[in-house]
Amino acid sequence: MTNYGFDTLQIHAGARPDPATGARQTPIYQTTGYVFRDADHAAALFNLQEVGFIYSRLTNPTIAVLQERIATLEGGVGAVCCSSGHAAQIMALFPLMAPGRNVVASTRLYGGTLTQFSQTIKRFGWSATFVDFDDTDAVKAAINDDTRAVFCESVSNPGGYVTDIPSIAAITDAAGIPLIVDNTSATPYLCNPIAQGATLVVHSTTKYLTGNGTVTGGCVVDSGKFDWSASDKFPSLSEAEPAYHGLKFHETFGELAFTFHGIAIGLRDLGMTMNPQGAHYTLMGIETLSLRMQRHVENAVAVAQWLEKDARVESVTYAGLASSPYAERAARLYPKGAGALFTFAIKGGYDACIKLVDALELFSHVANLGDTRSLIIHSASTTHRQLNEEQQIAAGAAPNMVRLSIGIETVADLIADLDQALAQAAG
Ligand SMILES: *Cc1c(COP(=O)(O)O)cnc(C)c1O
Repeated sequence: MTNYGFDTLQIHAGARPDPATGARQTPIYQTTGYVFRDADHAAALFNLQEVGFIYSRLTNPTIAVLQERIATLEGGVGAVCCSSGHAAQIMALFPLMAPGRNVVASTRLYGGTLTQFSQTIKRFGWSATFVDFDDTDAVKAAINDDTRAVFCESVSNPGGYVTDIPSIAAITDAAGIPLIVDNTSATPYLCNPIAQGATLVVHSTTKYLTGNGTVTGGCVVDSGKFDWSASDKFPSLSEAEPAYHGLKFHETFGELAFTFHGIAIGLRDLGMTMNPQGAHYTLMGIETLSLRMQRHVENAVAVAQWLEKDARVESVTYAGLASSPYAERAARLYPKGAGALFTFAIKGGYDACIKLVDALELFSHVANLGDTRSLIIHSASTTHRQLNEEQQIAAGAAPNMVRLSIGIETVADLIADLDQALAQAAG
């Protein structure tokens, strides 16, 4: 399959006509259980001596197709889907972390991830150290003996920033630590973090992969390239697992160790499972991913260029603009486009932003992104509300800024809507 082009793989990878019925489209296997051939078969499945379907908290045929599809598009060896993007982040960290261990993370992250990492993971005894990922010396300095992962987004949310993944990967390789990249906003069409050196890729499939705002979902993709046994830092993967009679995941499953651990321990015991109906919607979405991303990027460039020239607008932060400080990096590492998510600041500050959001007719004021529809959010009063002003500015969500997620509508209609709303906000 891997010789096929992206457009072919997004439709065919992982799927084959249903062996029982010949159904061409992947059926929704709406079942929780699977009949064992006999007692020996059941025992082999439970001992992980044979791969197969046991119970849908762990595995399901519809979800298995989606896992293989995303792993293929990302160039990974395996993937585990789960109930949301945030679940995927916990699923990615879970086999690596332990009480007292830390993750070094970029300051430029989705607001919910900043909260998950700065507050909630403390309850597991984990911690996060946030640094500016443009300052590679600071990233190096932040990694210590207790660091078990480095985390960033490729194209970052709320927008305007693209990470130099190869530079960060050089640091994590030297330190013997896995690099986790959240590729939600770029999608595998615009960026392949694994080809640029990432160990694991996480997704909120809620966004562009599903593409039309119907279901939440997440995915963790493993590159299969990390040597979990090279140090004693990753005992969950390299040492005997008491829950499976002393089985060692890395020794037994090789490059698929992380994926098997994600299913056999992660989904089994954390239970953040995707449902087959959700997987179906995401499979439908992925079939048109490249076409949608091309239009998303084309529209985003046109809207950003129009806004940049408008006197009512103070600044536009989009890495796809020639004026962006990240234009050179974006052209080099994200040649098909810097996503369709960006922020702009307007004159009149916080109050004008609130008026703008209320005056828009075509753009919806929604806490989502990566929809076919164009969306807007005033991050400072919503998604980034839990942060103080300094953290909001560092995250690209200053009080005078709004974030746009540009959809695939007729671009002139989007510009006309922004034009009339800016007039009302200024008035
Ligand atoms: C939305 C989002 C998440 C969280 O995903 P959910 O599916 O909402 O849990 C994580 N990272 C990024 C970049 C996102 O856009």
